[in-house]
Amino acid sequence: SVVTRFAPSPTGYLHIGGARTALFNWLYARHHGGKYLLRIEDTDRARSTDAAIAAIFDGLDWLGLGGDEAPVFQFARSERHAHVAHQMLEAGHAYRCYLTQEELAARREAAQAERRPFRIDSEWRDATAEQWPADLTYVVRMKSPREGETVIADEVQGSITVQNSELDDFIILRSDGTPTYMLAVVVDDHDMGVTHVIRGDDHINNAFRQLVIIRAMQAIEGGWPDPVYAHIPLIHGADGAKLSKRHGALGVDAYRDELGLLPEAVFNYLLKLGWGHGDEEIISRDQAVAWFDIGDVNKGASRFDIKKLLNLNGHYIREADDARLARLVAPSLAKLAPAFTPDSGMDLLTRAMPVLKVRAADLNELAHGAVFLFAQRPLLMVDKAAAILNDDAKEILRQVLTVLDAENGWTTEGLEATVKQMAEGFGIGLGKIAQPLRASLTGQATSPGIFDVLALLGKDESLARIRDQAA
Ligand code: GLU
Repeated sequence: SVVTRFAPSPTGYLHIGGARTALFNWLYARHHGGKYLLRIEDTDRARSTDAAIAAIFDGLDWLGLGGDEAPVFQFARSERHAHVAHQMLEAGHAYRCYLTQEELAARREAAQAERRPFRIDSEWRDATAEQWPADLTYVVRMKSPREGETVIADEVQGSITVQNSELDDFIILRSDGTPTYMLAVVVDDHDMGVTHVIRGDDHINNAFRQLVIIRAMQAIEGGWPDPVYAHIPLIHGADGAKLSKRHGALGVDAYRDELGLLPEAVFNYLLKLGWGHGDEEIISRDQAVAWFDIGDVNKGASRFDIKKLLNLNGHYIREADDARLARLVAPSLAKLAPAFTPDSGMDLLTRAMPVLKVRAADLNELAHGAVFLFAQRPLLMVDKAAAILNDDAKEILRQVLTVLDAENGWTTEGLEATVKQMAEGFGIGLGKIAQPLRASLTGQATSPGIFDVLALLGKDESLARIRDQAA
């Protein structure tokens, strides 16, 4: 059965491309009832950090893309990798190469001077044990085939052929005996039972090298089936250039903490980035699992569009459960409105969500939109609101006070009827009343519907706020 894996190198945070690779692996495994595994490729000891590992797990968990089993850490498996290298060495599929750095550099230069491509043609490739210098260090190189060709039937890219003469004798063990990344990937994929390698298309060239190792192990001990490969195109910015921060590409943690996005919006967006199902824009997790197939992933680079992502987020905010949204905005709201405390304010915040969330594209906007509910009296009037409250407006507020003071019941509908009746009685447009009312109740010139605002604030608080500004 299907086993996929996501194998990030913890040298930086989980970025948008990595998250999409994880998603496609997760979906493919779910679609086929298989397993999805995580492997942390931490063999670059200088650049791998614990903070990056933590951020990767955190980002994956947030997106609901945690692995089905405990993650594998690659560096901890070095001995196993070296063991496989020695098996290949003993069977003659790999060789000790004593070429020094200086020799290699000289050959590279010579090739350059003669304008011919450089290839390592090591005279040690066919050396016998008697020829091995006793006192020199060596690296272990694969004896890559030189004749014929290698074909990969890639699920996304189609059939790709490489002439074996183009394959180099790449290193699998360094001179200090440590295994290289190329070897580690193959051994780990085999030992984890990975059947499908789904990853960025920047790894295509590696696939041909990795197959050299796989074929050697097939010859030595059988098993070691070729994995199915699916190399997915990189993500580009809206201008077609390689994706960078300039395009709004951030770590997944920043989408949550800075942009205030919901994980289901990012999930949906990543899904649509390079894959589609007809014209469907909104695709749920379950639908995605049912519909996803790796063969439908686009061959061309996909373009990252932050506007689409924000639009989707607005959709998912409108769909989201009110209590959940209140919980999510509570921490930032507490900073914006000191009078808000989760203990005392959660109920009002939750009740206000239906009218707040239709006006917000992200959680930051949502938090800002809720501030007026918890503002302390007398409210500070923001620029336009202050201008609205001229003498005429204040006179109207005094009339409104009398009318609302007599209001029985305090519902959105009842208040609307009352205020409309008042406007008719005065022979003025509703806006003439609604504008100063809004300013006095929210300190702003824009807000949710004014009758909703009145209903949410309640009678006492509403009248007190109006009184503050009517004076
Ligand atoms: N660790 C590699 C990367 O972060 C992925 C290797 C692979 O998927 O085979 O790009």
